[in-house]
Amino acid sequence: MERDRLANQDQRDGLPSPVEAVIWDLDDTLVVERPAAEAAMAATCRNATTVLGVDTNQLEQDVFDEAKSQWSALPTIDFARRVGIASWEALWATFEGPGQELSDLRAVRLSHRQAVWRKAIERQTTVDHHTVEELSERFVAERFNRMEAYPDAEPVISQLQPEVPMAIVTNGAPDTQRTKLSLTGLDRFGLPTVVAGEIGIGKPSPEPFLQALGQLGVAPERAVFVGDSLTRDITPALNLGMAALLIARHPHDTNSIILPGGRCNVITSLHAVQQYLSPGMD
Ligand SMILES: [Mg+2]
Repeated sequence: MERDRLANQDQRDGLPSPVEAVIWDLDDTLVVERPAAEAAMAATCRNATTVLGVDTNQLEQDVFDEAKSQWSALPTIDFARRVGIASWEALWATFEGPGQELSDLRAVRLSHRQAVWRKAIERQTTVDHHTVEELSERFVAERFNRMEAYPDAEPVISQLQPEVPMAIVTNGAPDTQRTKLSLTGLDRFGLPTVVAGEIGIGKPSPEPFLQALGQLGVAPERAVFVGDSLTRDITPALNLGMAALLIARHPHDTNSIILPGGRCNVITSLHAVQQYLSPGMD
């Protein structure tokens, strides 16, 4: 039996057999994140071009630059880094949730996002407060219009749910991450979800991984983590003794990947997760 078990493990590139839990990253693993933010930014800046005559591409770059530098200058930056709230997410986050840090962010969220837009626009032209307000709110609306799961996320979760316990571990603010789950419909699966902004610490720290494993009652050695980041998902999961699958959706992504070794592999579609978990489908 032991020999069969080990042979089975070999076939699966070192993944546990049987796999007793799958834990998912959210952003750019299950839901479209960075491309959605960029598309929302492009749409908002096209509108700014119509209203103000500014260069669209330049404004897109300038807003991302201003968002990054002003986000880093806020007194809350240590918390934001600890829980992994990206600077562009702060342009639509409400920061609802527990704790003093989120409360501090709620207090400055509107002035922050408006200051980002004003400074970015002022690199090209003058602008009044009303237009700044309108554009910063337009970005929020454009981002909400792009809440999209990757096409393989729902069918794969749906097929795996009867077979294997699953959870989600995600960095970010509670409201943005919970909104992505609800507006993409992925919340219907009711998966335990650990949001870094709710527990005060994010990946790559081990805590959020351990919380998810604890909620599922599964040892790290019996679980697989699926994510798109080597540094925030794959390496910390391996360090905990989990197996890991790196999702790289574009062929050019896979060329430059150097896996840290051990029990991990690269997949280009979430459908491949099923193949790793189902005997006879390798
Ligand atoms: Mg991710």
